[in-house]
Amino acid sequence: MATASEATKALHEQVLKTLPFRDTQDFDDAERGFIATISPGVITDADGRTVWDLDSYTFAGAEAAPETVNPSLWRQFRLLMRHGLYEVVPGIYQVRNFDLSNVTFVEGDEGVIVIDPLISAETAAAALALYREHRGNRPVTAVIYTHSHGDHFGGVKGVVDEGDVVAGRVPIVAPEGFMEHAVAENVFAGTAMSRRGAYMYGALLPRSPEGQVSSGLGLTTSTGTVTLIPPTREIRETGHVEILDGVPVEFQITPGTEAPAEMNFLFPTFGALCGAENVSHNLHNVMTLRGALVRDARMWSHYLNEAITLFGDRTDVLFASHHWPRWGRERAIELLEKQRDLYGYLHDQTLRLLNKGYVGAEIAEMLELPPALAHEWANRGYYGSVSHNVKAIYQRYVGWFDGNPAHLWQHPPVAAASRYVDFMGGADAVLERARRSYDEGDYRWVVEVVSHVVFADPSNAEARELEAQAFEQLGYQAENGPWRNFFLTGALELREGGKGTPVSSASPDVLGAMSLEQLLAGIAIRVDGLRAADAGRIVLNWVVDGERAVTTLNDGYLSVVFDRTDETAAATLTASRSGLIAALLNADPTGIGIDGDASAPARLLALLDDPDPDFEIVLP
Ligand SMILES: [Zn+2]
Repeated sequence: MATASEATKALHEQVLKTLPFRDTQDFDDAERGFIATISPGVITDADGRTVWDLDSYTFAGAEAAPETVNPSLWRQFRLLMRHGLYEVVPGIYQVRNFDLSNVTFVEGDEGVIVIDPLISAETAAAALALYREHRGNRPVTAVIYTHSHGDHFGGVKGVVDEGDVVAGRVPIVAPEGFMEHAVAENVFAGTAMSRRGAYMYGALLPRSPEGQVSSGLGLTTSTGTVTLIPPTREIRETGHVEILDGVPVEFQITPGTEAPAEMNFLFPTFGALCGAENVSHNLHNVMTLRGALVRDARMWSHYLNEAITLFGDRTDVLFASHHWPRWGRERAIELLEKQRDLYGYLHDQTLRLLNKGYVGAEIAEMLELPPALAHEWANRGYYGSVSHNVKAIYQRYVGWFDGNPAHLWQHPPVAAASRYVDFMGGADAVLERARRSYDEGDYRWVVEVVSHVVFADPSNAEARELEAQAFEQLGYQAENGPWRNFFLTGALELREGGKGTPVSSASPDVLGAMSLEQLLAGIAIRVDGLRAADAGRIVLNWVVDGERAVTTLNDGYLSVVFDRTDETAAATLTASRSGLIAALLNADPTGIGIDGDASAPARLLALLDDPDPDFEIVLP
């Protein structure tokens, strides 16, 4: 276990001096309304495998941060260790930190409405059981998904039976576009996102003062059964009111904010506003580091402003699907305003500087939040950061290219690395100078240059160790949970080799919800281009659950048209969606009926490449 360097300790001292640690209101709020929690703090699946382990974080007890954790992140971590069942107001309850996200229970005439049933069926079921133990055995009468991210729907089968949903007994309410976006993320870049997600959430790290201490947004992600039941009611309009189990709910749709399909909503009879994940106790991600389409900071700010106008004068408590609530109208509106100003400020100031010719990396360094925004605890960069959000806003408007032609056609990493090392006088010379930079505490520079040495020659053990040590100090310094996890996972993999990704985001339920268009797109992105180009033209008809399509492989590209049948196709494939998914995932073609030339689909399948879920990141 490495210790904190002098430079790291000095940085932590500075944090303690600069930030308002004497303001402990968040601890009061995080503890307010506590009813009970589970003990031991472990949730298991049907086979007894642990899917959630609060007890692995018992080292959170000490108020003073260890030297190896940024004191501001430590504070957030300790807030996230307030877990269990809480009363928000009489009739509204939350189970917090039984997963990355919160699940909320709103009591109606006949039973209880569930908002955002966590990631895994097991954690969601444990949360519901804890709620029922203290609030009576109320049936679930409705489910609301606030948005299309997996930590807000994956546990749905832990709280409701799909048969009750299909039979119309339990409505599931979600914003327009929910299903498309909930599934889309797993179609195109799902494999890469899972691998990078393991870095982001520190899934491979030990939980300790030298390891994973939350992700800032929540402790970590659970590892149980990810489920999905499609919504039965889509909310399309702001101002729309639904009566769920006798409880009026007034919606505001907020597309293109934290998620492409998301909504806030007010429970007017409770004076309670649900801010989904648009408002939280951290600066959120304009672009998440595991990889995603870049979000729109301007619209995010716009919709928070609209929420104040729509609901401010009727809000007595503001709760969300992460972190703890804010009570009192003035304080609730203040949080909405601070976050509105935060995202809006980042957007506008980035563009101001972009239009003066500064590039993303420069703006990220220059842009400073005014103290009124920076010293608001809920605006701290525990999940997003000013640095990477500024680069995301830059990327949204002008993309990866900074306009300098020297950066237009650079050598790729390994080719560049061997040239850099050669020009810098060889690996030993680089390491000698890098060690001096390390001693000066310039860890950012150490990882920049030593990464070239590692990419030029991954067998250079000295280089790997030096880079790992610099990553470690960067991790210890980071206020941002994902930054810490990225740095420390990088150190781990440099020392012990690539560890791969322990969990995949693609669960059978999520894959099973793919539309035919998404399924065929999933095949198309696996076509091995040049091999396929040599294979010539393959035309196939598809009939999947009655839906028709024609695929044409030509020039190495698989094009698709829907609602057609091609008379000249080599074969017609008839399958159910689940049969097609089994064929693709398990190479089990028994669920597919083939009429015509059976060798044609076999030739297409043979041209598909497999994604690599364990690709290297810190090594070439
Ligand atoms: Zn979330």
